[in-house]
Amino acid sequence: MHDADHSAADKDGHGLSALDGERRPLVALAVGMLVAFCLLLAGLQGWSAWRAYQDVQDDSRVATMNMARALATHAETSIRLGDAVLAEMVERIEHDGLGEAATARLTGRLRGITHEVGELHGLFVYGPDGKWLTSSLPRPMQGNNFDREYFQFHLLHTGHGTHVGVPVRSRSTGAWILPLSRRIEGPDGSFAGVALATLNLGWFGRFYDSFDVGQKGTILLALDNGTLIYRRPFRDEQVGMDIRSASIWQRVQRDGYVGSVVEAPRIDNIERIYSYRHVQGFPLFVATGLATDEVFAGWRRTTMQTTVLGAAAMLVLACGGVILVRQIRIRERLERDLRQVSVSLKRHNASLQNLADSDALTGLANRRLFEDRLVSEYERARRSGAPFALIMADVDHFKQYNDRYGHPAGDECLRKVAGAIECSTRRPADLAARYGGEEFAVILADTDLTGANAVADTIRAAVAALDLRHADNPTGRVTLSMGLYVGHPALAERNDPLAWVDVADRLLYEAKDAGRNRVVSREGHEAAA
Ligand code: GH3
Ligand code: MG
Ligand code: MG
Repeated sequence: MHDADHSAADKDGHGLSALDGERRPLVALAVGMLVAFCLLLAGLQGWSAWRAYQDVQDDSRVATMNMARALATHAETSIRLGDAVLAEMVERIEHDGLGEAATARLTGRLRGITHEVGELHGLFVYGPDGKWLTSSLPRPMQGNNFDREYFQFHLLHTGHGTHVGVPVRSRSTGAWILPLSRRIEGPDGSFAGVALATLNLGWFGRFYDSFDVGQKGTILLALDNGTLIYRRPFRDEQVGMDIRSASIWQRVQRDGYVGSVVEAPRIDNIERIYSYRHVQGFPLFVATGLATDEVFAGWRRTTMQTTVLGAAAMLVLACGGVILVRQIRIRERLERDLRQVSVSLKRHNASLQNLADSDALTGLANRRLFEDRLVSEYERARRSGAPFALIMADVDHFKQYNDRYGHPAGDECLRKVAGAIECSTRRPADLAARYGGEEFAVILADTDLTGANAVADTIRAAVAALDLRHADNPTGRVTLSMGLYVGHPALAERNDPLAWVDVADRLLYEAKDAGRNRVVSREGHEAAA
């Protein structure tokens, strides 16, 4: 056997599909990484947009809270002012009475206060029957306020505190006013009338308008009992409206003093971020709201821009990915083609090598390969110290065979003999070769005399078994003569493997001389030659 190179080619052919299997993950890896990167990008973008949204919301909440605090303080200050003025008026009336001189003095004082304090729309004093007694108005006016809510309140309630009434239109000026009132009592504790301070809602409106709440923002001031006092944007018909069904009122009643909420009130259905605050010491609360679509307009624009940019980046990445995957595929195909070419080239080379190494007639190794192998096996045995056997075999009386049966028959005979020899040498390291003409050589590596003789006998038996008729051979059949030499290259003085061929050849001719159809063997322990 001398086609060991086939195995290398086979191995490569097998490796082709294994390599293919390894390449697949490269595409999967590239796609996986791109997808992961896109997901990461989208995640990051989503997260930062969410954070920005939270920040805007928090900022708006803080802004409305601060506004609500300022407005509540303003309302409280204004009402406390009215309360102080009323306390003084009542104290004065109850002490000095309402004689002509006292009333004149009081009227002057009321005008002075109203003139100085912008929030105050007017100061009024009514008798127990609701009749106007005096006021801060420039001209005395006739009228009766018995029907007013605050008048009825004091008529029925004996408390001395300031009552914050529902907003009404002034009978004197027609302006919207918020009435603050106190009960006046006679020395015996009986109801003696009402002192009234009215706050100018226009004054509140101007203050409220100085805050920037955007186009759709709102500010409102309302009584705890659900009566709307003022709402921005101001509308006449909304003053005094009952807002108990509005959730902001319900929330103030339920959650108390201060808070924030996002909601869209039924009154205009605009969603806002509201903050509310109760006015300290009085039954009122204020609320401010910024419209969410205005608050988030900037955020929406930025988010839209970054989303478009992110999507564009992902698109570029995806395109890059497609190109990358395509390139990988092309490269894989080229590599596969290249490997296939390389494998077939190797096979081709192997078969060329095989041709170059083999004998055309018998298919056995030729003399060239035999001599190469002889040198390499000899060297191996020299290194390992193993015995080394060489058989030279020659067909007996072959010239006569040719002469009798013709050259083609001679060729056929040689082929069969070669087949018999080949079959008798089964170990991988053994090599049967056609040495030349009708002479064959067999290398038996790592084989001692007994083993080598056994192989020689097997060859002889195999040739005999061919049962090839040969009339000019005394046995009547084709036979072989063999010279067999076994030695230890490690012990040889001269390192000359070809000398072993000469020795085996000499033994072969000894066999010829001894009558042919036999094996002459010898084991050498010293120099081969
Ligand atoms: P001996 O028993 O002493 O070996 O006698 P022999 O006739 O075999 O010896 P010899 O060396 O004189 O003859 C060898 C012959 O083998 C000569 C040649 O015609 C023949 N021969 C050599 N090569 C081939 C071949 O390739 N084909 C054929 N048909 N015959 C060949
Ligand atoms: Mg010969
Ligand atoms: Mg011969």
